[in-house]
Amino acid sequence: MSVSDELAALLEEHRFDPETRICACGVECGVMCDNLTYLEHLNHALRNRFSVVELPEPDGYAEEQPYWDSTDYVEAEDGHVYLIGSTGYRKPNEARDLAAALVAAANRAEAQS
Ligand SMILES: [Zn+2]
Repeated sequence: MSVSDELAALLEEHRFDPETRICACGVECGVMCDNLTYLEHLNHALRNRFSVVELPEPDGYAEEQPYWDSTDYVEAEDGHVYLIGSTGYRKPNEARDLAAALVAAANRAEAQS
């Protein structure tokens, strides 16, 4: 199942009925026992399953191929993603930066092929 399909399924799972104020999952939005607005409830549901990251712009271009260079080096070239980095531990912010650079490079690589 693609991410788009999973997102569509999650949105269907949390479809809101404005008349009853009950989400399809059973949460009563905006009432005493479930004191969240529907948007707050949906935000929690999305964040529990998906992560949204801002995709970074390339740090530069090497022979017209975009690259991202932080703690690891990531490059999109000829429809492929190249990662040159060390194995081992990364701080959480470094891991997120690497993940965002990999997704940005994957998007560029798909656009190249
Ligand atoms: Zn729900």
